[in-house]
Amino acid sequence: MSSAAGSLVAEELPKDRLEVLFDELGVLMGQRNAIDSRIVEIVAEMDRDNLVGMTGARSIAALVAWKTGSSITNANTIAAIAHRLPEFPRCAAGMREGRLSLDQVGIIAKKAGHGSDEHYAALAESATVDQLNTALKLEPRPKPEPAPWAEPQRSITKTTAEQCVRYRMTLTHDEAATFDAALASHQDALISQWKRDHDTGERPSDQAPPLPTMPDAFMSLVKTGWDAEVTRRPHGQHTTVVVHLDVKDRIASLHLGPLLTAAERQYLSCDATCEVWFERSGQVIGAGRTTRTINRRLRRALEHRHPTCAVPGCGATRGLHAHHIQHWEDGGTTELDNLVLVCPYHHRLHHSGGITITGPAPNITVTDSDGRQLHSSSLARPPNRPPPDVAPYRGPTGERADWWWYTPFEPPPPQTN
Ligand SMILES: [Zn+2]
Ligand SMILES: [Zn+2]
Repeated sequence: MSSAAGSLVAEELPKDRLEVLFDELGVLMGQRNAIDSRIVEIVAEMDRDNLVGMTGARSIAALVAWKTGSSITNANTIAAIAHRLPEFPRCAAGMREGRLSLDQVGIIAKKAGHGSDEHYAALAESATVDQLNTALKLEPRPKPEPAPWAEPQRSITKTTAEQCVRYRMTLTHDEAATFDAALASHQDALISQWKRDHDTGERPSDQAPPLPTMPDAFMSLVKTGWDAEVTRRPHGQHTTVVVHLDVKDRIASLHLGPLLTAAERQYLSCDATCEVWFERSGQVIGAGRTTRTINRRLRRALEHRHPTCAVPGCGATRGLHAHHIQHWEDGGTTELDNLVLVCPYHHRLHHSGGITITGPAPNITVTDSDGRQLHSSSLARPPNRPPPDVAPYRGPTGERADWWWYTPFEPPPPQTN
C-alpha cells in the first residue's frame, strides 16, 4: 500500500505541486491583505483620535510595533497608510478586498502626491512594490519657487530614526564654502594623524582603526569649536548642563538660565548627566552629592541586567539614563535595586507624569497615565473567528515594466479663484 501511495506522489509533477502551493498562497495572501486593511483602519482610528499619548509610546509606529510584535519598518508602513487613509480610498478598498498588499499601498502612502489615489490604485493592480517605487520617483516633485527678493531660508532640521539621527542643513553659498573648507581641513588633519600613527610602510595591522571619514571630520570640527567656545563664556564654564539647586526650598534653575519646574529639576538631577550645585540661601554648599553619580561598574551591571529601556515596548538602547526609582532627593539610593535604565524620552515622560515606574528593580511595574500596567508582549493570540471572505490575491503580474509608455502622475494645477 505504502509503495503505491509513494508512486502516486512521485507521479505528481513539480510544476503541478507548485501550482497547488501557489493557489494556497493566493488565498492566504488575499486574507492577509484584508486583515492588514483592518489593522490599518484600527491604527487610523487611534491616530485620528490621538489615543497614542496615554500609552507612553513615543509614536504611532512605535505603538504598532509594540502591540503587533512587528519590526519598526513594518509598523512604519502601517502607520503611513493609516495616517493618509482618507486620501487613498481606492487603494484602501483594494487592500480591504484582498487585491493589494500592505507593502504596495505602503509605498504609495509614503511617497505619492495629493490626489493620486485613482492613478496608483490602478497601477498597483499589476505593479510590484519596486515598480511602484520607480513610478513614484517619476512623479514631479512640486518645488516651491523661492521668492527672488527673499533671503534663502537657512535651516538645520533633525529627524530621529531608530538607529541614528539625520540632519538636513541649508546654508547660503558662502557659508557652505566655509563649511566645506573647514570639513576638508579637518579631514586632512585626521588622515595625516592616522598616517603618522598607523602607516609604518608595511601593511596596516588588523587592529588599526579605519581611515577617518567625513563624519569623523565633522565631529572633530564640532569638538574643536566646542572647546574654543569654553574660553569665551563667563567664568570659563564647561559646556555641560549646570543646575543650581536650593536644598532647603528645592528650587532649581539652570546656570545663568531660567528656573526649572519640579519635573524638570527631578529629570535633570536624576541621572548624572548634569552638574548640580547645591546651595542654601544662595550660597554654594557643595557641587554634587557623590552618591548620586553612577560609576562605570554599576552602569555595566545595569546594562547586563536589562540592556534596553525598561519601558515595555520601547527597546531603545542608545543614550539610556539610569533612573532612580525612588528619587535621590527623597533619599533614594544609587544602588542596583533602586535604578533602571530608561531612554531619554521615557525618562522625561516619567518625570513629567506621563508614565509611572515603581520598583524595586528588576521587577518594576510601569503604568500609563491612566494607571494601566504596560506589558511588553504583543496582542497576538490564536484566531477565534473565520478568516475574511475575499478572493485570492493575484499579485502583480511580474512583467517587465516598459517605462517608455508610462505616464507619471501629474498633480493637478493649483486652484486659483
Ligand atoms: Zn529619573
Ligand atoms: Zn524608552
